[in-house]
Amino acid sequence: MIEKCYMCDAVGTTREHVPPKSFFPIEVRRGLRAKLTVVPSCELHNHSQSKEVEYVRNIIAMSMGINEAGEKNLAVAKRSFEHSPALLRETLKDFENVHIKGQETGIFKGDLDRIRAVMRPIANARYFKDHGTAYTATWKIFITSMTTPKEIETGVSGWEPFVDFVMRLTFKKKDVPEPEVFRYGVFEMIGGIAYEFVFYDGFFVHCWGPTPSVGCEVPPTRDDKRLGT
Ligand SMILES: [Zn+2]
Repeated sequence: MIEKCYMCDAVGTTREHVPPKSFFPIEVRRGLRAKLTVVPSCELHNHSQSKEVEYVRNIIAMSMGINEAGEKNLAVAKRSFEHSPALLRETLKDFENVHIKGQETGIFKGDLDRIRAVMRPIANARYFKDHGTAYTATWKIFITSMTTPKEIETGVSGWEPFVDFVMRLTFKKKDVPEPEVFRYGVFEMIGGIAYEFVFYDGFFVHCWGPTPSVGCEVPPTRDDKRLGT
């Protein structure tokens, strides 16, 4: 049987890991090899080697409040920065030292477009796994764990009504092979579907999208271009 790509009508000639394989620390990956979630993917929609994935994995590894599995990736992030000083410069270009709750730490600006470019295929792939068909509408993606510049300045992010809304949803937890690395829940409502992604118990992302109507076209987005190659 010919399997279709999780994103488009092309033949799925490759396997895309959900989330990307590099999000799993090597020790975790070894024990899990056969169990990691994969979807069939055409070459265009396989992001496993993309620069975006490396960037986002590093950003999450440097976030506050993540568990040991996430911290293990900090060493991986360090190696990736040693390997690519340009990526380090790019990632930490707005770095500032700050004190949060009495602890000295640093903040830097995350590139939301790049983070969304990695989260969007994860949402599509989860949808594909859960429904057996490609998701044909477009997700709105909120990087819930990240603070906005406005919030640092004024204490108010402007996203409070949305965050309040998603926090009140009861996401139905789904089975995953390694919840310490990635777990997710789904909330289906009339006309819409929401996903909650949790990386390393502490980095939250929320996706919301309309329930796709039958026969609707996949809108072309710039994320459809293979980035970083
Ligand atoms: Zn495709």
